[in-house]
Parts: sequence; C-alpha cells; structure tokens
Amino acid sequence: MTAQLIDGKAIAASVRQDIANAVSNHRAAGRRAPSLAVILVGNDPASEVYVAHKRTDCEQVGFTSIAHDLPANTSQQDLTALIDQLNADDSVDGILLQLPLPAHLNASLLLERINPDKDVDGFHPYNLGRLAQRMPVLRPCTPKGIITLLHSTGVDLHGLDAVVVGASNIVGRPMALELLLAGCTTTVTHRFTKNLEDHVRRADLVVVAVGIPNLVKGEWIKPGAIVIDVGINRTAEGKLIGDVGFAAAAERAAWITPVPGGVGPMTRAGLLENTLQAYENTL
Ligand code: NAP
Repeated sequence: MTAQLIDGKAIAASVRQDIANAVSNHRAAGRRAPSLAVILVGNDPASEVYVAHKRTDCEQVGFTSIAHDLPANTSQQDLTALIDQLNADDSVDGILLQLPLPAHLNASLLLERINPDKDVDGFHPYNLGRLAQRMPVLRPCTPKGIITLLHSTGVDLHGLDAVVVGASNIVGRPMALELLLAGCTTTVTHRFTKNLEDHVRRADLVVVAVGIPNLVKGEWIKPGAIVIDVGINRTAEGKLIGDVGFAAAAERAAWITPVPGGVGPMTRAGLLENTLQAYENTL
C-alpha cells in the first residue's frame, strides 16, 4: 500500500476535544450547556444505533441531550407540533430529526419546519442555499466532516479536478457545493452518468457516496489522487466495507479514507460542531 490513511477516528477525537474545551469555557463563564434535541420515530435498528451514538457523543462533550423517542404511528401533525415546540424553546439549540422516517410521514415538510438556526443537520433549504451562495452557516455534517479530513492532508485543494460519485441531498449534492467553495473544479456523477470510469480516472480527488460495494474499482484511481469513501456496506460475513475497491485504490492513491474509521466519525463530529455553532450564535 502506498497511500497514507486519513484517520477520521483520530481527527474526530481531536474535534470532540476542542468542543469539550469550548463547552467547559462557556460553563466556567456561567452559561448553560449547549443542548441538542434528537427526535427518533419508530424502531429502525440502524437509526436506533445512530441515535444512541449521537446521544453518547453529546454527553461526552458536555452537551445536554434531549430525547424524543416516538412510536412508529406518530402523525405528521403531532411531529409538526413537537418541532414547533422545540423551535420556540430557547433552551434548545439544535433539533435533529433522525431519517429515514416511517413511510406515512413527509420528511421534506418536517425538515423545512425546523428553524434554520437550529437545523444542526444542515438539511434545511435555507442552509443549503447559504452554502450554494458561498455564505454557509450550518453545513451538512458529512460533507463538512470530509472538508476537515481533506484539510488534514495539507494538500492545496484549489484547482484540483474533483469528482463526486452520488448526488443525494444529504451527501453528494452538498459535497459538490463544499468542493466548489474549496476551489475545486467539480463534477457530480450519478445514476445516469455515462462512463463513470472515465470521470474517476481523471480525478485528483474522488468522493464516493452511493452505497454499492466496489462500484469504483481501485484500478480506476489516478496515481496520487485523494480518495474519500463515504459508502457503508455490510458484507455477508458482517464486515463493513465502502464503495471503493480499497486494496487496489490504496496502491495508487496518495491519500485514502478507511471504512470504517474514515468519514463516519467525522459525520458525528460535524453534528457536535454544528450544535456548538448554533448555541454560540445565540450568545
Ligand atoms: P442515497 O440517498 O441512496 O444516494 C445515493 C446516490 O447515488 C443517489 O444520488 C443515486 O442516484 C446515486 N447512484 C446510484 N447508482 C449510481 C451509480 N451507478 N453511479 C453513480 N451514482 C449512483 O444514499 P446516501 O444517503 O447519499 O448515502 C450513500 C452511501 O453513503 C450509503 O452507503 C450510506 O450508508 C453512506 N453514508 C455514510 C455516511 C457516513 O457518515 N459515513 C453518511 C451518510 C451516508 P439517484 O439520485 O439517481 O438515485
């Protein structure tokens, strides 16, 4: 392997330490702790694990974590009322609505209901619009965490040919906006892209977020490129793997993220950063 690993676990730990220090300083100055309300609807096992992690992270850095665990049959009206109540509560800095929601609920309407100042996931159209216009406030956590990983390499991003594989609202699209903001020449590829291989082969920087194991073959990676693998897939043996053929990619890339231990921890750290930012914006 020739690539250097980008250690998301270690970088996220250092971000969490900075946040814990900032919280201590606020407490020492007599202010309350930042607080995050997490809404979980139903019993999706993966969501339950993610939410448990988010709550532990909050406790570790000294935030107040407020749990709203609701039954799967909760109505749109009741959820809307809960969001309104949290929006109006000055002791709540961040509101996170865990996705996916049960099929009878309209996630877009509920996400838009969250006060953009408390939208710590950065999914509200206001926050995405701010990012698109180069005036970001609360930024989507996964792309934001990836930018921190990229800066950790010390590589100058200006003018790099960046290719984003996947165009979802929560990863691919905001990732493309972040890379544009960072000065990359950015291409977004998706389900209808012709010749994905050609795009990846010329990329100085590739971010893959699709959810298909080995979609991007390691042999496609340009020698010396930076490879960020967002995908999380479980093999039949129960192992977690990304969307990039890791072994061959690591023979060609200069920098690569592992799965697990790359992007995942940074997404969690990004949520904490956003919550602290939402809190500090109220001071
Ligand atoms: P998603 O909503 O399913 O989006 C996948 C995107 O990939 C869509 O835009 C889809 O196109 C596109 N796509 C499908 N087939 C493709 C192909 N053959 N070539 C190029 N693009 C293709 O998934 P997501 O929420 O963005 O997540 C993607 C992966 O990242 C999943 O494995 C997820 O578990 C993981 N993830 C990890 C983290 C983390 O913190 N590590 C955070 C979020 C997500 P259409 O838009 O046309 O459907």
